[in-house]
Amino acid sequence: MSMNDTPAAEMMLLAGKQAQIAWRRSTRARRVSLKIDPCAGGVVITLPPRASRRTGLALLRDHENWVAARLAALPQAQMIAAGQMIPVCGEPHLIVAVPSGRGGAWIEERMIKVAGSPEFLSRRVSDALRQMAGRRFAELAMEKAQTAGVRPKRVRVKDTRTRWGSCAPDGTLMFCWRLIMAPDFVQDYVVGHEVAHLRHMNHGPRFWALTEQLTPHREAAGSWLDAHGQALLRIG
Ligand SMILES: [Zn+2]
Repeated sequence: MSMNDTPAAEMMLLAGKQAQIAWRRSTRARRVSLKIDPCAGGVVITLPPRASRRTGLALLRDHENWVAARLAALPQAQMIAAGQMIPVCGEPHLIVAVPSGRGGAWIEERMIKVAGSPEFLSRRVSDALRQMAGRRFAELAMEKAQTAGVRPKRVRVKDTRTRWGSCAPDGTLMFCWRLIMAPDFVQDYVVGHEVAHLRHMNHGPRFWALTEQLTPHREAAGSWLDAHGQALLRIG
């Protein structure tokens, strides 16, 4: 991305409040667009190759109140730091620094204990949760795949921002590691949903019938993610 006139990110007043604006240039974009980024807590303006910054700003001004309202409605960002609580499988866990300890981060009772120097604490916690997510989702996916009579090629976890899980045509299942913070029934549904895609690469009636067979939590998990999903993206 090379733009002399457009910094990658900047602060701007929107409806009287400071807001973070990030600029993106996309060769695939057909028109200028605005998107709320729940992780950064800001707005992203995407410009097609020949659109000017001025066009982007005009669109932003046209939708200033909408953007400001959406930003104000975002859950608060939550830092991963000693003394903070973050959920693991839906249960709040206190983050406790153990400077003299060895071995990264581990879960004990309702605590996440973190060894080593404080500057790496946040990284150690997210690494540990990521590993836990990788193990757990792989196990759950294998179990459900067996029920469905299918076989994932592999199971991966990533820090995805737009989807909780996906199923690639080659049979690779991918899950957002942050899902490990959601309650078990939500994890169960997302994994069941993606495993069902190994058989049906669509959202047709047969796909849903199989999903129901693999997990009873479709409705509850859907409403939980609608209500709390964004908050998970703002942790870290
Ligand atoms: Zn789907």
